[in-house]
Amino acid sequence: MKLLTDTVVPARTGKAFVVQRGQRIRVLEVEGGQIGDFVAFNAGNLRERFSQGRTKANQGKIRISTGDRLYSKSNSVLLTIVEDTYGIHDLQYGMCSRWIFESPDYHGFASTLPVGGPLGRPAWGCWENLTEALKAWQIPPEDIPDPLNLFQTVEIDPGTGRMGIVPGRSKPGDYVDLRAEMDCLTALSACPCTGRPLRVQVYEE
Ligand SMILES: [Zn+2]
Repeated sequence: MKLLTDTVVPARTGKAFVVQRGQRIRVLEVEGGQIGDFVAFNAGNLRERFSQGRTKANQGKIRISTGDRLYSKSNSVLLTIVEDTYGIHDLQYGMCSRWIFESPDYHGFASTLPVGGPLGRPAWGCWENLTEALKAWQIPPEDIPDPLNLFQTVEIDPGTGRMGIVPGRSKPGDYVDLRAEMDCLTALSACPCTGRPLRVQVYEE
């Protein structure tokens, strides 16, 4: 594979990446334990975007890994996961946002997740990061889909349906490779909750 771009996404920021059909986008852990909120759009029609719901229903599972696909609401395949050294990526939660940090009793963080990581409690979330990253494409904040939460580990009680985010066990160098099945606009937020950077590489196969 030929490396085309290699970009650090600093802690608590987001960036957008255009990935042409057949290219791979690799999301890499730098320090480990960091969550990445990932969204994707059809670059030829930005109204068509990733669907958490179709991605789960079309494959009959609530977690995806190598060989699984990221679908849009109209059931087109945007990307396929072709390598994954971590194996668990959440498709239940939406993305964090400023609202969560202004709601001290928000139950999603009443788990053992140490919100803030090494940087302390954040003032904004992934929604704000992705809004900023996608500004150049004039995507309104309300049109940013619920994400694929890379390296996010969620435990679900099958009896009650209750769920909670637990600290991830990802190590430095863990990565997920997604192959674009059409020209895609993608964006990644280094989730402010976990407060560490991520790295993104784009490859030509
Ligand atoms: Zn987040």
